[in-house]
Amino acid sequence: MEKIVSLCKRRGIIFQSSEIYGGINGFWDYGPLGAELKRNLRETWWRAMTRDREDVVGLDATIIMHPAIWKASGHVDTFADLMRECTVSNKRVRADHVEPQTGTAFRWTGATGSNGWKSEKPMSLLGKKGEHVDSIRKAARQHYAAGAAPGAAGKIEEIQLLEETTEPVENSVDFHPETGGALREAVPFNLMLRTFVGPTATEDNVAYLRPETAQAIFAQFKNVVDSSRQKVPFGICQIGKAFRNEVTPRNYTFRSREFEQMELEFFILPDEAVKIMHGSVAKWSEGADLSKPQPNWGWEMWHRYWVAQRTAYYAGIGLGADVLAYHWQTQEELAHYARACVDILFKFPFGTEELEGIAARGNFDLSQHQQHSGKTQEVFDEELRAAANKMDDAAKTAFIAEVSDEWAARALLNQKPEAEARAAAKEFCEKLFKGQYVPHVIEPSAGLDRLALAVLAAAYHEEDKTDVNGKVERRTVLRFHPRVAPVKLGVFPLLKNKPDLVAKAREVYESLKRYLNCFYDETGAIGRRYARQDEAGTPFCVTIDFETLGEKGDELKDTVTLRYRDDGRQERVKISELPGKLFPLVQ
Ligand code: ATP
Repeated sequence: MEKIVSLCKRRGIIFQSSEIYGGINGFWDYGPLGAELKRNLRETWWRAMTRDREDVVGLDATIIMHPAIWKASGHVDTFADLMRECTVSNKRVRADHVEPQTGTAFRWTGATGSNGWKSEKPMSLLGKKGEHVDSIRKAARQHYAAGAAPGAAGKIEEIQLLEETTEPVENSVDFHPETGGALREAVPFNLMLRTFVGPTATEDNVAYLRPETAQAIFAQFKNVVDSSRQKVPFGICQIGKAFRNEVTPRNYTFRSREFEQMELEFFILPDEAVKIMHGSVAKWSEGADLSKPQPNWGWEMWHRYWVAQRTAYYAGIGLGADVLAYHWQTQEELAHYARACVDILFKFPFGTEELEGIAARGNFDLSQHQQHSGKTQEVFDEELRAAANKMDDAAKTAFIAEVSDEWAARALLNQKPEAEARAAAKEFCEKLFKGQYVPHVIEPSAGLDRLALAVLAAAYHEEDKTDVNGKVERRTVLRFHPRVAPVKLGVFPLLKNKPDLVAKAREVYESLKRYLNCFYDETGAIGRRYARQDEAGTPFCVTIDFETLGEKGDELKDTVTLRYRDDGRQERVKISELPGKLFPLVQ
């Protein structure tokens, strides 16, 4: 990670936000190359999720929305992480991020200073395995001194620690990982960033910076349905900023407080509606054909389909099976409304961690908004009504009985009243018979910044190159997939002091730069220029030389040397053939 972080700063990919003022924890800026990288990633996602599909449309909603949205979604009440505070330094840490530690717990009842100062505040510090007792005591004295009024405790060395006791500790999560101080009890900490809309900073004017982009999609669901001529199953996708007041931002950009999400809400029919229309619901089994959606798919097939689609997307930008992993959430891990959730993980240098979550969320979100806004979120499906009309009364009664049994069983499992579940099931089925329902949803939700970091980590390579003098030099190469590479093509005149070469190279650059992000470079030896582009991850370079000018014969006139980053291969290509050769590789 250190190498990646330093390369990112050196080459203008990622900078610490507000660096000249000491930075601000959890916020990152993207420099010239990083901005291009992110833009390309956004573009590949947008294209895969909507432009290339007929069944997904886009949305671009505001960051600040009506606060009632966050009440309905559950974020105001429950979007919290458990946080623990260090009793010694007051530093905070996310409760589930404390690594188990082993060592000796030292406890003191208080301390006295050389000036008659006294503290009766107990302190506990963990001495990690192998840590010298003197350094632990020194840390304790320093903490006591820091808690006293300036100068009151006297010299640090003269502070006396009172009534020391020790106790062995094994795999404990009760001490701060950095300071070793005992942690207070966990308390929930809401992750939403608050602001005020309007001239007065009162509770009435509280608004939130969205902690996810998804809710706007639900809130605008009806408008999109009414205006886009889409019919369930279809999706709405969005890319945009999200904000979370993360307790412990860490691992570079992996966990930031401001980040970008790329989310799709893919709306599907409830399985019961599929059953009415097609007699049965397709079940998933290993090896099932997920290449093309089918009308008899229920949530499970759709969920598997999106996992496959997203996996194919990652492969298409260079993140293959070797760098990805999957975590299927267990029943205990799942949110109460979710049917299934799989996290697509990437093997980051600091561990295998979530890149994207793909959840089957039932109709929880639209139902919540229906309930809180009082506006129906149901859709009407003529085909469903027509299919239901073909059922006779006995078939309908049997159908209701079957659905009620399922709902009742689920209610019992979740310790909810059975009778209510049966009544709700009946109401739901009767609506279905009329062609009405609240759509269910599959949600692939990815983080753009995490993806940029994953792509950087996967691209990072070091190789030893021997120069013309036989000197071995270690070089860094970013092997970005050409689709996401910030710069696609380096354009070089062989020599900068030959006006004809420069003019021709400028001409090539000008003719291609509208279609490809090109970088023109005329300084330094050609090998140096290649190395600079390798380090920036540029997949192709062309050099304009004397052959290009026709000085070595007519057959080589208007040809250039095209050099490939990954294998150093070089070939002679006509300038007029460059677009045909390069465009398919970068699109
Ligand atoms: P975590 O458990 O890591 O906090 P989460 O499961 O709450 O994440 P989701 O709410 O599912 O995350 O968000 C969807 C995606 O948004 C994540 O897979 C991740 O790529 C991205 N994301 C979430 N939080 C952050 C963050 N603080 N910084 C960068 N990206 C984030």
